[in-house]
Formats: sequence, structure tokens, C-alpha cells
Amino acid sequence: MAGRYAPSPTGNLHVGNLRTAILAWLFARSTGRDFLLRIEDLDRVRAGSEAQQIRELTDIGLDWDGTPARQSERLALYEHAIDSLTARGLTFECFCTRRDIAEAASAPHALPGHYPGTCRDLSDEEREERRRSRPSALRLRSRVNQWAISDLIHGEYEGAVDDFVIRRNDGAPAYNLAVVVDDHAQGVDQVVRGDDLLSSTPRQAYLGSLLGYPAPEYAHVPLALNADGQRLAKRDGAVTLEDLASIAVEPHEVRALILDSLGLPNHSLSAALAAFDPGALPREPWVVSNLGS
Ligand code: GLU
Repeated sequence: MAGRYAPSPTGNLHVGNLRTAILAWLFARSTGRDFLLRIEDLDRVRAGSEAQQIRELTDIGLDWDGTPARQSERLALYEHAIDSLTARGLTFECFCTRRDIAEAASAPHALPGHYPGTCRDLSDEEREERRRSRPSALRLRSRVNQWAISDLIHGEYEGAVDDFVIRRNDGAPAYNLAVVVDDHAQGVDQVVRGDDLLSSTPRQAYLGSLLGYPAPEYAHVPLALNADGQRLAKRDGAVTLEDLASIAVEPHEVRALILDSLGLPNHSLSAALAAFDPGALPREPWVVSNLGS
């Protein structure tokens, strides 16, 4: 049994990311699970960012089991899952551009947010012809429109499932596939992450069910927002450990601010762990402003 934190190495972690990491650690450790770190580096990697993020997580006192896994080293695993879906007739090649999809999706009968099905039933000849002009993405041939998941914070949550992409047209496995395959392969049965990913979760859980994986426990935690109610980002001033250190706010003080925001004892992670009660977590986003003052 394990929980995990799975950052994308695209830059320094900010206090909202660090808060999610602390929560994932608290959920895992308070339930006797291992805690794993997985580097989601299939996309948009910034050089040096992986090592930097690992330092930041260490600096606020988090620890994890084993060495971090890197998605870029696990491609065979994703291909294997994709092949097994394809062998069962559960995938199809898609040649649509974003524009094709936007146009077809605006038709009156289209289901909002759903792939409009343009390439789902191409004939062999049509497919051959399209292959000559464009590389294909691979989509899941979904048999449902909706899927329900159960979340420790949001309760029963039902959301859209469509024929989503599982391999991009540049050949890279899609995030929605890789995350499901990895969590299962790594023994992760508890997924704690930001609630911006809640709406993707029915797709992932449905895919997991097709692959025969038991559903993990989910907890989608509130994000950090800036004073204008937008998702916290680098432009919001001193929001990374590096920025905060430059105005003399040390990592343990940042951790204390995060634990305060969670209503937990703020002097150590072990004190926070002893007091951790998922039922008592704030349900509202954390509004962050002027951390250094
Ligand atoms: N790598 C994703 C992110 O940084 C998180 C994926 C997940 O936790 O499932 O947003």
C-alpha cells in the first residue's frame, strides 16, 4: 500500500505544490502507507528542475520510500498497457487537429467536453489515406459517457468520460494513461493531489477498470489561490522556497505557514502527523498573499 506525490519537473515548487505534497505525505503516513515520489517527466521538462524539486521537498522535511521513479524510464510499461487495450479493440487512431475537434464539438448534438467521434469509425481505406498526411494519436474507445469515483473529500463524484487520448501523436504516452499505469504498477492505492485534477479522475478510473486495476482511494485537496482568486503561480511574488529565502523566510517557517493553513500543529511534521484528521481539513482553497510579511 502506498501514497505518492507526482510533480512535473517544470520549475520550482511553490507553496501550493508544497502544501499538496505535505498533504499527500500526511495521508499516506497516517494510514501506514509507504510514500513514493514520482517524477512526471513525459512532457515540458525544465533542465535542473527535478533535482531542485527534490531539494525543496527535502528542505521542508518530507521523506519518501525508495528512489524516485521517473516516467521517462518507464515507457515499456505504458506501451504494454496500450498494446493490451489495442488487442481488445479498445483503441482507435485519431487524425484530428485541435481545430477539427473544436469545429465538430460545436455541432448541436455534441456532448460538451467530449471528443466528437470523428475518427472512431473510419474505414481501413480512410485510415490509410489519413496516415499519409498526419501522424495519428491513439484514443480509448470508451463504452461509457460518465464514471463515478469516490473521493475522501468530495464524496461520490461522477464526471465525463470520452474517447480520450492515451498516446499523443508525437508518440508519447498521455498523462491520463501513464498516471493510471504507474499508480497500479507501483502499488499506489491512495491518490492525493490538487482538486484541479478531480474532473480528469473519472477518465482515469474508467481506464483503470478496463485494465483490471482496483480503484485507488482518492483525495483531491483544495488548491492555493492568489488574492484575486486565481491559481497560485510564480508571478504572484515570493511563493517558492528560493524566493522566500531571499526575504529571510526559511523552509521550516514556510512549512509552519502551510501547517497553519491546514489547522495543524505547526512546529514539526511529526506533530502535524499525530494530529492529522482528514475529516477536519479545510474545504476551501488556501488564499495566499504576502507570505514574507
Ligand atoms: N504531475 C501532475 C502535476 O504536477 C500530477 C499528477 C497526479 O498527481 O496525478 O500536476
